[in-house]
Amino acid sequence: MTEPTARPVPLHETNPFLAVTAFFERAADHIGLDEDIREILRTSYREISVQVPVRMDDGDVTVFMGYRVQHNGARGPYKGGIRYHSSADLDEVRALASLMTWKTALVDLPFGGAKGGIQCEPHLMSEGEIQRMTRRFTQAISYILGVNRDIPAPDLNTNAQTMAWIMDAYGQRYGFTPAIVTGKPIELGGSLGRDAATGRGVVIIVEETARHLGRPLEGATVAIQGFGNVGSWTARLITELGCKIVAVSDVRGGIYNAAGLDMTAVFAHAAETGSVVGCAGTEPVSNDDLLLLEVDWLIPAALGGVIHARNAEKIAAKVVVEAANHPVTPEADAILNERGILVMPDIMANSGGVTVSYFEWTQNIQMYRWEEERVNTELRKIMTKMFGDVEAFKDSHEKATFREAAFALGVQRVAHAVRLRGYV
Ligand code: GLU
Repeated sequence: MTEPTARPVPLHETNPFLAVTAFFERAADHIGLDEDIREILRTSYREISVQVPVRMDDGDVTVFMGYRVQHNGARGPYKGGIRYHSSADLDEVRALASLMTWKTALVDLPFGGAKGGIQCEPHLMSEGEIQRMTRRFTQAISYILGVNRDIPAPDLNTNAQTMAWIMDAYGQRYGFTPAIVTGKPIELGGSLGRDAATGRGVVIIVEETARHLGRPLEGATVAIQGFGNVGSWTARLITELGCKIVAVSDVRGGIYNAAGLDMTAVFAHAAETGSVVGCAGTEPVSNDDLLLLEVDWLIPAALGGVIHARNAEKIAAKVVVEAANHPVTPEADAILNERGILVMPDIMANSGGVTVSYFEWTQNIQMYRWEEERVNTELRKIMTKMFGDVEAFKDSHEKATFREAAFALGVQRVAHAVRLRGYV
């Protein structure tokens, strides 16, 4: 057996870029998009792969691969997170970059779409190693970043601390530039409410969906896969609506209680041990089995591709809310639709994060700070408007699913900007 190393070789079951492209093509069909524009929108503007050599704590050098993909900038500067994960290869980052283009357009933010990643196993690295890797990566991509060019943010396994290092590394070269990155610590110009924003947005979409369906949320059962930034904030805020969370999970596994988890105890246990696993008064459930629970709301908030052709027939939830990016493959999406299971797509469900990133960027440019209440109020306003836009599109295209409608709106707005700019 080989020892685990910080630089893994991931195995993809499906190509994530082809999966996202399938959703794009379906939306493009819906709006009858011309082939010339399609060709522009199905490819990225710029993709860079950089070598990120890091002196590890044991004295050896490990060379990681880092990526930044700028998918489309017709509507504004490129915007999107940077993730540290074993599956963050060029295909994955490219897929996520195009999702950002549709997401920022759908919420009508003045941004394009981008994504970055370093293929690594951050849980096997020390903080010092992660900091050195982050600084080296920032240096390597700094010439394509810029306040009016490309603005990174947190994503899987990156956080406010990582953004502080990016801001610092960029600032060493270009001078103090807080607006170069969003999701920073509050002390360094981060926005109040940014940490909770993606989870808060997921819960706003749950509320809007419940309204759309005419179903109450009080006592509704919920299962959440993932207990990182998005999953844990979603859990915290959805509890306030009177929902009953029956299962949550993290990388180490999941916990279940049919009568509803005591979330105060779960948060305390996770803070103490670093995992939800083993919390008193719960039964274990695997990450795979959590997805198959009979619940009102299933919220995948971890990795892409977790609901696929092999488990979609067994999903027993009434609604799936995609807090993660592309958690449902196109094959699974078709099966869920066929079975009458409603899917709220990622570009709607998790757009709260980039929306508050937009607020952070504007605050930094003005050197001004909003109160948290203003952030949360404006976030709700933008997300409910977006939900209404998608509902209206669905009303005028009877057969469109929420995903098709949301993608179609995003694609339409980007295509319009591309034409106005005279790309073709
Ligand atoms: N990584 C988040 C996303 O997938 C946030 C991106 C941002 O704030 O720029 O939407």
